[in-house]
Amino acid sequence: MRYISTRGQAPALNFEDVLLAGLATDGGLYVPENLPRFTQEEIASWAGLPYHELAFRVMRPFVTGSIPDADFKKILEETYGVFSHNAVAPLRQLNGNEWVLELFHGPTLAFKDFALQLLGRLLDYVLEKRGERVVIVGATSGDTGSAAIEGCKHCENVDIFILHPHNRVSEVQRRQMTTIFGENIHNIAIEGNFDDCQEMVKASFADQSFLKGTRLVAVNSINWARIMAQIVYYFHAALQLGGPARSVSFSVPTGNFGDIFAGYLARNMGLPINQLIVATNRNDILHRFMSGNQYVKETLHATLSPSMDIMVSSNFERLLFDLHGRNGAAIAGLMDTFKQGGGFSVEQERWTEARKLFDSLAVDDAQTCETIAEVFEQTGELLDPHTAIGVKAARECRRSLDIPMVILGTAHPVKFPDAVEKAGVGKALELPAHLSDLFERDERCTVLPNDLKAVQAFVSQHGNRGKPL
Ligand SMILES: *Cc1c(COP(=O)(O)O)cnc(C)c1O
Repeated sequence: MRYISTRGQAPALNFEDVLLAGLATDGGLYVPENLPRFTQEEIASWAGLPYHELAFRVMRPFVTGSIPDADFKKILEETYGVFSHNAVAPLRQLNGNEWVLELFHGPTLAFKDFALQLLGRLLDYVLEKRGERVVIVGATSGDTGSAAIEGCKHCENVDIFILHPHNRVSEVQRRQMTTIFGENIHNIAIEGNFDDCQEMVKASFADQSFLKGTRLVAVNSINWARIMAQIVYYFHAALQLGGPARSVSFSVPTGNFGDIFAGYLARNMGLPINQLIVATNRNDILHRFMSGNQYVKETLHATLSPSMDIMVSSNFERLLFDLHGRNGAAIAGLMDTFKQGGGFSVEQERWTEARKLFDSLAVDDAQTCETIAEVFEQTGELLDPHTAIGVKAARECRRSLDIPMVILGTAHPVKFPDAVEKAGVGKALELPAHLSDLFERDERCTVLPNDLKAVQAFVSQHGNRGKPL
């Protein structure tokens, strides 16, 4: 499988190189040159497979030529073996034909484990083969950091540095990062905000000379391997609900358009999906596009669903590429306009094409809390605020009651106690067994000033399993 850039100028890469790449050299994002397509009979034959075996069948075409089948199978069995629920991604019924796909049974209790547990193992496999090491420098406002650290903690060939804004992530989220020890794991609290952290990561990718020849790998959802891993659970859910003979709809709480883009790909690979609902919080650039064909940056709002607090949706470029007939020059032009502070609209027929599949809703904090309370009253299920946004959007935007509606349950409520408390649900939140002593564990973290040079000096001092690069 070859991968091409959404801006048409960077060289095509194979899977291995795409795994190790960040942005393409032309500033674009990598996508498969040709998407695999499965027949209905083939998909139907996967019913009842354990999650890791389904994952093998869905992802195999993407890694062919880079990872032999036997090795890939073994990696997947290990990856999904660490999830605490036997079904890996169980479905829970909320209402008539309405389901939550629970994606929070991984080590860090959010759906990012599906991709980052795999990414860590894939990186180590590929690097071992090549006799190389890499450094990860990532920024997090919460969920990505812990999932990336958990995913890479056993990697022999990866050193990971996660930047979070000092005193600005929740205690559960901080402890999920800082209580994991290893000579290759480094938590850095930056005296600044999340944007400062992200800017430092971007600048480090742009000029990697401080790494003395070691390369930097991206762990955010611009990394193709993350999107790839997320395609699997759309197939998994549909197969449980009568697919592919029956079509299924999904409502996806989203910020960077990563998770929902995986659903779009699942559909293009042959899975009958009737409707994809983009569920955003008040940071609603995606909703403004889907409802009014305006892609315009606005100011950032802090919400009760912080993992979707974004101004720009990085993966949206991957959808735009398809909407424009995969014309890289057109995307480069649009992104240029956007970068210069302008927003953009796309031609009416392209927007109409998108709207055949996508609907959207922006849900504010008050509605999020109302939904948490409402669902708790109806079912006794406690939703996290991100999932609650998905449920609200599903209920508002649903096109057909006959078609099963699956809401992606992106996090466990214990990660977001503020929202649960504000919702007034009188239920105590309990950490799952493997995290029950989280608040008693020792923490390890370095506080650094909001200064790129200081951060880069720290990385080069510790980037080789705690020793200088
Ligand atoms: C990261 C995250 C999201 C948003 O995912 P995208 O890939 O940006 O769409 C939603 N919910 C939770 C809990 C997350 O951690």
